[in-house]
Amino acid sequence: MLNREKSTACFERACRTIPGGVNSPARAFGAVGGEPLIMQRGEGQYLYDIDGNRLLDYVGSWGPHILGHGHPAVTGAIEDALRNRGTSFGAPTELETELAELVVDAVPSIEMVRMVNSGTEATMSAIRLARGFTGRNVVIKFAGCYHGHVDSLLVQAGSGALTHGVPSSPGVPAGCTADTIALEYNNLDELAETFEKRGDEIACIILEPVVGNMGVVAPQPGFLEGCRDLCTKHDALLIFDEVMTGFRLAYGGAQERFGVTPDLTTLGKIIGGGLPVGAYGGRADVMKTVSPTGPVYQAGTLSGNPLAMASGIATLRTLKDTNPYPQLEQTTATLVEGLRNAAAEADIPHSVAQVGSMFTLFFNPDPVTSFTVSARNDTDRFARYFQGMLNRGVYLPCSQFEANFVSAKHTDDDIAATITAARETLAELQ
Ligand code: PLP
Repeated sequence: MLNREKSTACFERACRTIPGGVNSPARAFGAVGGEPLIMQRGEGQYLYDIDGNRLLDYVGSWGPHILGHGHPAVTGAIEDALRNRGTSFGAPTELETELAELVVDAVPSIEMVRMVNSGTEATMSAIRLARGFTGRNVVIKFAGCYHGHVDSLLVQAGSGALTHGVPSSPGVPAGCTADTIALEYNNLDELAETFEKRGDEIACIILEPVVGNMGVVAPQPGFLEGCRDLCTKHDALLIFDEVMTGFRLAYGGAQERFGVTPDLTTLGKIIGGGLPVGAYGGRADVMKTVSPTGPVYQAGTLSGNPLAMASGIATLRTLKDTNPYPQLEQTTATLVEGLRNAAAEADIPHSVAQVGSMFTLFFNPDPVTSFTVSARNDTDRFARYFQGMLNRGVYLPCSQFEANFVSAKHTDDDIAATITAARETLAELQ
């Protein structure tokens, strides 16, 4: 068992001034029971909480830390920017162009890119741009995909919204979602039917090309291509929300991995290297309709600030120079095979999904292909699994409906230790 004395006291204190004690609901332990641990610091593949517990981390700040915590190239770049530049000027810097060039070089669909401060801002801006560019209002999203807390996209949303039982939120007026159609992921027939009926009203499809927010769900063969073809046929824009998958599944993201090119792409997480950055980019003719070259308005006081840009540049350069992707894939495959065997030995109904260094152990015997199947997961069993792993020093996302992330710092020994912890924990869950 972990010593949680200081965490418990600190969390109680936090709850007095912060709703639920957390600044983002995905961090709350509501779905798994108990209170979150309060973190002190991160180093490589480990987190250390304020009671001094060392935890092997598969959350990676929900995606950004593909290089592990505190990578020296990244922290060095942030320190240098802080010391020699400053925090924010509200005027252009060379660093913004440098990060933009790295993104344009890496991501197949992106010819021009605008920096913002979060994934939510990126998807919100991309939707507005798609509507402004096409002169249409209807947005298609898929149930179980999460695109941040944008009003028009909080419809059957995954991640924390799903975990806490509010996939469509109070406070979002019906008018805001009247033009949002939520369909089933991986169901091309339903999508084609919708385009048949309302094709000339549809501004865009937005989707996670690999879903991370109802647990990891891969696109079935032909699904991404089908989305592409329907958008092209009906003059709608295809938006890949690569906030999670960008620079994670390949240096050029899911679009490089699957060879399907969207019109617009949203990014976040890894491109900030742990500081708040989002971005949206794509076809130059579309991006040029953004203010000030075009009429679609979008702005940000802190957008492109030097610290965040320096952190992003150092992260992308390190990824480009070291190409950790083959090793990440192999390490994750070893872990996933170990988890599958451990669950089978314990005779626990399960399925495991892996794409690159993202994976989920589902307490569900059926392969999860959509929100409908994901909703049948045994979340009580997941909660007990989560607690058993935590007590053995393995820090997993505190919901069944999230992706686990492996970093370049996870070693073979870490993977073996995780499998041992899973074997012990799963044996207790029958
Ligand atoms: N899009 C996807 C696919 C995400 O996973 C997330 C966050 O997890 C977002 C958008 C929202 O990003 P942020 O939390 O930075 O606003």
